[in-house]
Amino acid sequence: MKKQLLPQKRNFYKANMHLHTTLSDGKMTPEEVKAAYKAEGYSIIAFTDHEVIVDQKALRDESFLPITSLEVSFSEKDPSLIGSERKCYHLNLYAKEEGNTVSPIFSEAAIWNRIEHLKEYVTDEMRQHDAPRQYDVALINEMIAKANAAGFLVSYNHPVWSQQNYTDYAPLKGIWGVEVYNSECVHLGQPDTVQPYDDLLRLGNRIYPLATDDMHSARSCFGGWLMVSADRLDYGEVMTALEKGDFYASTGPEIYEISVEDGIVHVSCSPAAHVSVSTECREARRISAGETPVTDASFGLSKYFANAQNRECRHEPYFRVTVTDASGKSAWSRAYFSNEWN
Ligand SMILES: [Zn+2]
Ligand SMILES: [Zn+2]
Repeated sequence: MKKQLLPQKRNFYKANMHLHTTLSDGKMTPEEVKAAYKAEGYSIIAFTDHEVIVDQKALRDESFLPITSLEVSFSEKDPSLIGSERKCYHLNLYAKEEGNTVSPIFSEAAIWNRIEHLKEYVTDEMRQHDAPRQYDVALINEMIAKANAAGFLVSYNHPVWSQQNYTDYAPLKGIWGVEVYNSECVHLGQPDTVQPYDDLLRLGNRIYPLATDDMHSARSCFGGWLMVSADRLDYGEVMTALEKGDFYASTGPEIYEISVEDGIVHVSCSPAAHVSVSTECREARRISAGETPVTDASFGLSKYFANAQNRECRHEPYFRVTVTDASGKSAWSRAYFSNEWN
């Protein structure tokens, strides 16, 4: 029986999950962000200003959903400085409950000295959670666990710009998504890759790939986004879809279907130069365009599936799909695990 892995809900809603407004170090006001992104067909924006959650639900309308969120940073040495010689962890927290502005990760001392105007949004409730920041992955994991318990999805942002390598991100726990594309970092000459995503999957994390803008100004608008499959533009429904991985990430191509039937993975997409399937091991396939672009691709993976059930895998078996168009733009599915193929 054919099994749809990318849910065929009524709509795909376009989402930018990472940006900064004039509340922190961005150039556009929240209202300008809403107008610009709505005009480009976006329905969902996570307002991830630095260090302080400011609820933007006043911007909500029937075709626009703001997500209550923020970005927190853990910098080597002085937490209020973000010098380019320092390594750092940057995490986004997304509230599963609309209007939940009480982030369990807060430190007034960590507000960067160049965005001190943010302090006017600090509330007494936030100050009750004030805890010092340290560049220490064990302590960061404790904070991520608190954030998860308080109802937040947590993403791990721009590993390349943060100068982080395998030894830095391998110990992270409780992460929901990792950026494989960050538009601002592309413009800064520090493009991310899918390597940390595969590394974290191979360590047993059920984690999703994210393409975002991290928009600070017009140059990084509309570069990377998620397409979220949901019936309605409802806060709870959208956050449930995000938590379950009912979405794909993209910088251009669209993915309409990813299904599996009798050991064959089928992908339907917008016109592509290449469609590939990769796995937790070296097993991978690519179908390339001939005279006409690829819009439907089928991959016979029954041998891989059978082996994945039987052999001793070094890692939990999964496959994921990448679609790349003629201009080099890509879309990435999440990883689908063996319990989802059967
Ligand atoms: Zn960041
Ligand atoms: Zn950011």
